Amino acid sequence: MSSNFIKVKDFGKKTDRLYTIDPKELVKLPYPYEDWEDPPVPEISDSRRQGKDISLDGILNVTIPIPETEEEKEKMVAKFLEGLRKLLTSENNWTFIRPLMLSLDNCVKCNTCSEACPIYEMSGGAEIYRPLFRSDVLRRIVNKYIKPGGRLTAKFTGADIDLNWETVARLGQLAYRCNLCRRCAQTCPMGVDNGLIAREIRKLFSQELGIAPSELHQDGTVKQLKTGSSTGISPVALMDLMEFAEEDITDRTGLNIKIPFDKTGADILLIHNAGEFLSWPENLEAFTIIFELAGLSWTLSSEMVGYDSVNYGLFYDDVQLAKVTLKHAEAAKKLGVKKVVVAECGHAHKAAMAIGDRIWLGESNIPRESSMVTLEDIILNGRVKVDPERNDFPITLHDPCNMIRSMGIVQPQRRVLKKIAPKFREMTPHGVDNYCCGGGSGFAIMQSNNFPNWRFLFPGRKKFAQILNAFTHEELDPSVNKYVCAPCSNCKGQMRDLLTYYDAWERTRMLYGGLVELIVNAMTDVREGFVEWEFH
Ligand code: SF4
Ligand code: SF4
Repeated sequence: MSSNFIKVKDFGKKTDRLYTIDPKELVKLPYPYEDWEDPPVPEISDSRRQGKDISLDGILNVTIPIPETEEEKEKMVAKFLEGLRKLLTSENNWTFIRPLMLSLDNCVKCNTCSEACPIYEMSGGAEIYRPLFRSDVLRRIVNKYIKPGGRLTAKFTGADIDLNWETVARLGQLAYRCNLCRRCAQTCPMGVDNGLIAREIRKLFSQELGIAPSELHQDGTVKQLKTGSSTGISPVALMDLMEFAEEDITDRTGLNIKIPFDKTGADILLIHNAGEFLSWPENLEAFTIIFELAGLSWTLSSEMVGYDSVNYGLFYDDVQLAKVTLKHAEAAKKLGVKKVVVAECGHAHKAAMAIGDRIWLGESNIPRESSMVTLEDIILNGRVKVDPERNDFPITLHDPCNMIRSMGIVQPQRRVLKKIAPKFREMTPHGVDNYCCGGGSGFAIMQSNNFPNWRFLFPGRKKFAQILNAFTHEELDPSVNKYVCAPCSNCKGQMRDLLTYYDAWERTRMLYGGLVELIVNAMTDVREGFVEWEFH
């Protein structure tokens, strides 16, 4: 039996590997990549995998430790079941119990969701990556082991599954083979959200079993709450970086601008994803130039966590999510700003707004706004002068899932691009139907072991194919500069790695970047050439 056709009831099978990735089974790329051959996915060495389970598909991103004795394995299964019971009670899961129960109860197995999932599609139809597969494992466990009488009727109700240690360990891994992009949820006729189910499994593992990828937890939210930023940049180091940014603005544009910090009573507190400070300072510089030249009353914060919009809790843990978003609310309250503007970071939008709405309560309920809306107001009302001819190169737009599909912020960035970019064209499909960059749900920052190969081969490959198709054959020639606008820091991280993996700069001269860089590139009060055609 091919590992592609594994059945849900065999999920707990005692075998070294349930599914083996073979790049030859993957979907081919379009022009000019028809002859592209992927290198084999690196095997995890014995020394590296020691004590860690990789029996799902040989990929290692979340570390599930292998217990040394059968007794310890049983204990872990029991703890998992206890956590699952909690997940299904409103007092322990008031945030997501209703959509979770609806999603567990209402699936009619029509498989519409499978066609919507880029991971399943690009795998060439690997069963374990079917959106329904993961949900069905959990559903069967609930039906058989949690519902009264479930064990007796399991065989007749389709709830057949063995709840052993292998099942639990693989389910934990499978929750990290989903971008939480919710494309499947959008297409489901029953309103089932398979992305939410994956996220709730992650939550169970984090909150009840203490298992989460180190990039999201120890090096993510824990570090952010301790040092002030998920990058480890302290408030003191931040000030040094801002001095550098001010000098860089002068070098690039000839403008002398002081970046405002801790200005009490400003209209706007702008919060960046701290990834910009280290990897893409031109993005925060561009925001600075636009906001200053538009005459806005605005500030950044140097309060702990107040300068880093990242909230990885959104992807795996409600407690961490709440702790981080409360810090953002505190920083805004302390400065007495009229509103918080979330810069170019999709998941920060969702954490601070859609989910934050349940946490920013009482005096902390300060209005929050997407920077896409703020920028639209600036451009459409002529608050800065632009010459679109300065952006005379092919541009396409990537839609970050959290900002677009989850929040419906679709048109403002398009209205801006139509004003500043004469060669802007859409991807197919786009807007709420667009595909994830492949770095969603924290994957963009997971750089260790062989996981990057997985995100390039499955969800990333779908995105890359979509990008290639947005340009004509002539435009894909490396003599033509072209730009993928990705107004989200995490998406940019994935774009950088994805374009590097597929050698796209050398082969097609394709650059990626944010929206604000394009705005500044078009601004006539700024020296020409803000967008630099260098890949980084
Ligand atoms: S589309 Fe919805 S109802 Fe159909 S199989 Fe997927 S989750 Fe179930
Ligand atoms: S949320 Fe996205 S990646 Fe996850 S199963 Fe659904 S479509 Fe696939």
